[in-house]
Amino acid sequence: MWGTILCVENGRQRLRRAVYPGSFDPPTLGHLDVVTRASKLFDEVIVAVAVNSQKRPLFTLQERTEMLEQCCAHLSNVRVLALEGLLVAFAQRIGACAIVRGLRAVSDFEYEFQMATMNRQLAPEVDTCFLMTHQQYAFLSSSMVKEVARLGGDVRAFVPEVVAQRLDAKFHKTGAGIAPPTDES
Ligand code: ADP
Repeated sequence: MWGTILCVENGRQRLRRAVYPGSFDPPTLGHLDVVTRASKLFDEVIVAVAVNSQKRPLFTLQERTEMLEQCCAHLSNVRVLALEGLLVAFAQRIGACAIVRGLRAVSDFEYEFQMATMNRQLAPEVDTCFLMTHQQYAFLSSSMVKEVARLGGDVRAFVPEVVAQRLDAKFHKTGAGIAPPTDES
């Protein structure tokens, strides 16, 4: 796999490869909007799924990777890989020239600004590129989606169908969530 990914020279033209890192626990339509737009800006986009997320993910690395692969299958220049260790080291290893991040409300800015500044110190050749969220997804987050799904709400307006099904299986077929009220309750 790395044989092809390390080949960043295409004749004399350098491939413009970006990495889009995140927890994707689970992927939402906001994430997919960012990936889709990034795929038009760069020759190749690597969606990098954080292995050691400090957020104690609901979905395993394999589940998150599978969901992203299914959701991005129609984007021929997008690949999904696991991200372990330092992001900039990963970006350098795969020959990425940019890190893509999404920006929603002002509350995202402080953390993203700190991270981009630190990453620039560590690897000045890898720039961070922010894509403003589509206004439709400005208040959409994985944690919000998980909470709605856990409480039995319909999340199909916020996530792709495959993700909605996985959430349903996770919370309601395993009994981990709160079942919606029945006539008897
Ligand atoms: P992380 O733990 O790295 O924040 P997330 O999966 O929460 O991982 O987010 C990954 C990236 O996607 C972040 O840059 C985040 O700002 C962006 N993102 C998440 N939700 C949205 C959304 N609704 N619109 C645009 N960008 C988003």
